[in-house]
Amino acid sequence: MPATILIVEDEPAIAELVSLHCRHAGYTVKVAHAVLDARDVVDETLPDLVVLDWMLPGQSGLVLARQWRSASRTKELPIIMLTARGDEVDRVAGLDAGADDYIAKPFSPREVCARVRMVLRRIARSAPLSNNPSVFTMNESHGIITFYGERLSLTRYEFLLLKTLLNEPLRIFPRQLLMDLIWTDAMD
Ligand code: CA
Repeated sequence: MPATILIVEDEPAIAELVSLHCRHAGYTVKVAHAVLDARDVVDETLPDLVVLDWMLPGQSGLVLARQWRSASRTKELPIIMLTARGDEVDRVAGLDAGADDYIAKPFSPREVCARVRMVLRRIARSAPLSNNPSVFTMNESHGIITFYGERLSLTRYEFLLLKTLLNEPLRIFPRQLLMDLIWTDAMD
C-alpha cells in the first residue's frame, strides 16, 4: 500500500506542485489549505506523514504540530515543517515542536519528496518490529517469514532464531539463552 501524505499549505500553487510530485513518486496525497481542514483529515484517518506549512492563516503550523505531538493518537505522526523562515532560531523551534524534519522555502518539490522518503525510511527502520508488521511478517505454522513482503529463504535454525527475536523485539537476549531457546524449539 502506498503511504498517504497530507500536505497542509495555504498557498494553492505550492500545495499543487508538492502534491503533484509526491503523487508521481507513488504516494497517495491529501491536501488541506487550513488548520481546521488538516485537523479534520487527520481525525478521520491518520496519514503516514504530514508536510506542514509553518505560516497558515488563523493558526500557525507550529502550534498544530505541538497539538498533534501532545495527543496520544497523533504523537508519533511524522511531520516535515515547511517554512519561509530559515534562521536558526526558527529551525530549533520547529524541531522542538516535534517536527521530524524541516525544509526552508524556497524549496524544490523534488526535495520535499526526497525528504518525505527519507523520513518514512528512517521511521520504518527505527520502529519496533512488533509495531511495524509491514517490515517482517511471520507465519509460524508454515515456517515462513517475509521481509518487506518478500519471503526469506531460511534454514530451520535461522527461522527459529528470527522467530524468537521477532516474538520479543524489545528484549535483549544473551547469546547462551538464545542458543538454549532455539535448541529447545528445534527439539519439539
Ligand atoms: Ca503559508
